[in-house]
Amino acid sequence: MDAPVKTHCPYCALQCGMAIGGQGTEITITPRTDIPANAAGALCQKGWTAAELLTNGERLTSPLLHGEPVSWEVALDHVAERLSGIAAEHGPDAVAVFGGGGLTNEKAYLLGKFARVALRTSQIDYNGRFCMSSAAAASIRAFGMDRGMPFPITDLAGADVILLAGGNPAETMPPFVRHLDGARLIVIDPRRTPTAKLAWLHLRPTPGTDLALALGLLHLAIAEELVDEAYIEERTSGFDAVRTSLAAWWPERVERITGVPVPRMREAVRALAAANSAYVLTGRGAEQHAKGTDTVTAFVNLALALGLPGRQGSGYGCLTGQGNGQGGREHGQKADQLPGYRKIDDPAAREHVAGVWGVPPEDLPGPGRSAYELLDALGTPDGSRAMLVFGSNPVVSAPASAHVADRIKALDLLVVCDVVLSETAALADVVLPVTQWAEETGTMTNLEGRVLLRRQAVEPPAGVRSDLEVIAGLARRLGHDFADEPGKVFEELRRASAGGPADYSGITYERIADETGVFWPCPAPEHPGTPRPFLDSFATPDGRARFVPVEHRPPVEDIDEDYPVYLTTGRVLAHYQSGAQTRRIASLTKAAPQPYVELHPDLAERLKIEAGDQVLVTSRRGESRGEARISDAIRSDTVFMPFHWEGANRLTNPALDPTSRMPEFKVCAVRVERDA
Ligand code: SF4
Repeated sequence: MDAPVKTHCPYCALQCGMAIGGQGTEITITPRTDIPANAAGALCQKGWTAAELLTNGERLTSPLLHGEPVSWEVALDHVAERLSGIAAEHGPDAVAVFGGGGLTNEKAYLLGKFARVALRTSQIDYNGRFCMSSAAAASIRAFGMDRGMPFPITDLAGADVILLAGGNPAETMPPFVRHLDGARLIVIDPRRTPTAKLAWLHLRPTPGTDLALALGLLHLAIAEELVDEAYIEERTSGFDAVRTSLAAWWPERVERITGVPVPRMREAVRALAAANSAYVLTGRGAEQHAKGTDTVTAFVNLALALGLPGRQGSGYGCLTGQGNGQGGREHGQKADQLPGYRKIDDPAAREHVAGVWGVPPEDLPGPGRSAYELLDALGTPDGSRAMLVFGSNPVVSAPASAHVADRIKALDLLVVCDVVLSETAALADVVLPVTQWAEETGTMTNLEGRVLLRRQAVEPPAGVRSDLEVIAGLARRLGHDFADEPGKVFEELRRASAGGPADYSGITYERIADETGVFWPCPAPEHPGTPRPFLDSFATPDGRARFVPVEHRPPVEDIDEDYPVYLTTGRVLAHYQSGAQTRRIASLTKAAPQPYVELHPDLAERLKIEAGDQVLVTSRRGESRGEARISDAIRSDTVFMPFHWEGANRLTNPALDPTSRMPEFKVCAVRVERDA
């Protein structure tokens, strides 16, 4: 029997290492112990059951044209002809491309090149815009560069104190929690989540007030003279303006806004300041707001004032969520970026990347619309009339999702590449069945910025092709010769990224295998990679981290007489993102079979709702149903719904952050009632 093949989990940004043996229904999964993220040999239940994705009975194995199976040649010819016709009639921006944070680096890269070179459209963005874009924008603002966690995950093990704002890794990525062992954990979350239950201190702000809480914590640090003046002087700029702006955020005012008692705030900030080694981490709870960039900036300001970033054993980091959430934002599938994490409106970046692509720089389109804006405009006179979707399911995952589904239905042509008939694929004119994780080779960059190698371990079913083959096949029909073999695409990606912030030019598949991953930036084959990029200086012009003054403001939609309850959304242990994969795994659907509405006993009593009742939740954008779960883990002014089923996002608010263009997923106003 062949030796098991070393690869990585298909799901989240931890990218746990696993080894796969056997084929077909005999596939076995064992955790690897050489990958630090799960070196203790842990996987969560999603990882343990991932083999079922490969043999799932709902797997698509033939292209579908208007629901009917057709050959690949017929399908690709049809798509290329329709794309050419739509672009010829309405201009190149009439074709949009929507990517995903689960695509390998090679796919993200080739998709960006396909959009800019073969289609010449500016209309490309991806679902990572809905994931960590606020943290990315805040990191670039403060540090000049965004590398999620700019330190190895194993550094967390030595921490005395960790403050985690809006993250629930005990449920979303359980093996991560082992890295928090030993630290006093401070969790900021409106819900008493499984992670909050592990906390030494749990602060429970009103939804949408994390920014005020961060301001209050920094106000206290300054008032109690806990800030690190020497670090501020030596390694940062802009503190005086932040100090001045914080005068207005006195603790009692913050308590009134957030509901967090002043003594609890004081305990948190004193513990952080007294620690020899401390981290501030943020997750989607703090980030998915129309003020998400400013909220993360406020937490970064706190970390900077306490002297944490850029010091070994301390720092700020964001817990990226999607499998390639980090790499997916570096290689050009984002509306405003070119490979190497370069800005698309930077003339030097355009010159370099156009040179690698063999086209004149002036032929490259400029920045396009962000994900929600792109979806919102579909089928309108100003928007695109055709869209290709790779690795995403926006009918479930976009905010105001019923509206988004209507926009998608208004398209002249929808093409979806997927492994199963997701809710978005079900609306498509053309569905193209593709290979998935263990059936293909490619690189993923995990939440630490460590570039990892997923190796092909099993044969794909007959009838499917890789996303790379699909992209190259369409490019060929449009007159462009693209590589479609992962190793060749990665070689090109290395050249395209050279000299950019996310420089992969020194990384090879061989090095990744030998070194169990390589941290970017890695600008030369002999370069060791950069586990901690900010130890000597930050990536700003003067090498200093930037304090930026920010102000709290209420949620875009606050509760009122008509919609008197806050809704917040999130994930459950058994499911991943839009659930297109995990809702097809028997043991996972058994563990979490249906959507639910979590509500406090006081609210349930007031609304005469009992556990198990069907609950109707209504917002200004739509309605959704779920089974009532009564729990005092939730605040009495708030309900929680998981977003893995079509429904929760019919309710959420598409108001956008002005910098990151992140929608306000995490708070909106709803009405809750027992379903008649
Ligand atoms: Fe997979 Fe994430 Fe679970 Fe690890 S924690 S097994 S990467 S889903």
